[in-house]
Amino acid sequence: MATATATEEDEEAQHEESALETARRQLARAAEYLDVDEGTIERLNHPDRVQRVSIPLQRDDGSTEVFTGYRAQHDSVRGPFKGGLRFHPGVTEEECIGLSMWMTWKCAVMDLPFGGGKGGIVVDPKELSEGEKERLTRRFAEELRDLIGPKHDIPAPDMGTGPQEMAWFMDAYSMQEGETIPGVVTGKPPVIGGSYGREESPGRSVGIIAEQAIEYYDWDIADTTVAVQGFGSVGAYAARYLDEKGAKVVAVSDVDGAIFDPDGLDTQDVEDHDARPGMVSGYDAPESLSNEELLELDVDVLIPAAIGNVLTADNAHDVQADLIVEGANGPTTTTADEIFAERGIPVVPDILANAGGVTVSYFEWLQDINRRQWSLERVNEELHQEMLKAWTAVKAEVEARDVTWREATYIVALSRVAEAHEARGLWP
Ligand code: NAD
Repeated sequence: MATATATEEDEEAQHEESALETARRQLARAAEYLDVDEGTIERLNHPDRVQRVSIPLQRDDGSTEVFTGYRAQHDSVRGPFKGGLRFHPGVTEEECIGLSMWMTWKCAVMDLPFGGGKGGIVVDPKELSEGEKERLTRRFAEELRDLIGPKHDIPAPDMGTGPQEMAWFMDAYSMQEGETIPGVVTGKPPVIGGSYGREESPGRSVGIIAEQAIEYYDWDIADTTVAVQGFGSVGAYAARYLDEKGAKVVAVSDVDGAIFDPDGLDTQDVEDHDARPGMVSGYDAPESLSNEELLELDVDVLIPAAIGNVLTADNAHDVQADLIVEGANGPTTTTADEIFAERGIPVVPDILANAGGVTVSYFEWLQDINRRQWSLERVNEELHQEMLKAWTAVKAEVEARDVTWREATYIVALSRVAEAHEARGLWP
């Protein structure tokens, strides 16, 4: 079994790339393949705008605490900014900028009429009561009022936020505007303009893209084995989709560990981590594994769907999967990506595979501005069509240029954004 060289490990350990550095490097890499004006690339290295706000919160004990929030708006040449709001102690301005750049590419590769945005509050939501969370969210909506709106910038849930926060956010915004404006955020509960199928959409799209990749490599899905790290929202829906299509999902995990059945797990029977914490690693399966062992299983398809930076210089040489489909955002470090390219292991990137989330957010926004709800069947059918369109565009670049799936995805995204910039011109 090969191991990473000391140099690769040292380099990676010395410098863990920030989201912004990664986003800029990926932009530069895609630009090498395209004839894009240097000024346009320089512009895309920077966000349009970043707003930093102070959010005072009256705690339940009567004291006042001031939290810091951000909203980064990267690029709106193709339409309003779109991207999540996270409540997490690790939120930084730089991270929001980097993640907003990723959203620009994710929206562009899906050909959605949106640009990239991302924001959040530096806070641990687990330390807030429901009432405190509601007050913080409402005040954040107020602080961002001038930046956001269905035609300007449309936030969505992200780490530490969900449908309830989006409902409060929409209500706070609407109360001040004097009318109900559901299109100001997506990821709301369906009863107030949320879309059916939104929650399962990122995992579903991971499943759809994995299915396409399996077909591309001429494998029979019935003989295909799959391991999924992180049986949460993204991982569980991806695993269940592939299981339903006939693949054999042999291993899944949560934060406490993995379960393994060489004959295939019944993914409907395993409860996801979110539904009941501990139920994945506590499931009665033939074998238990660690999360590290799951990543090195000899399977056809590996889906890292838990957290970022799990495939690194430390383990990339030991991964035995024949194909990696990224469910989480940023699960593969740059060095690991290079090792996989050298080893001929294709990696289908996050901004394509999990883009079902923002795609159904787009459907939600369409439903909101038209005041008409779609059925779950329609959402899933249209999602399938959009994923196939994006897959076909990326596949064409892979075949035409002999590049990796990640490079091809960025080439598709950047060429769309750059063409729009060149068509519109620089102001003034
Ligand atoms: P989730 O919290 O529902 O599930 C995460 C899963 O990973 C859980 O099973 C958890 O136990 C497990 N996990 C957590 N830490 C782990 C660790 N250190 N090692 C192994 N397993 C661990 O989260 P999610 O919404 O499914 O998101 C997963 C990833 O997908 C994140 O990177 C997220 O940014 C990305 N993503 C989510 C969405 C979305 O809308 N949910 C959309 C696009 C991308």
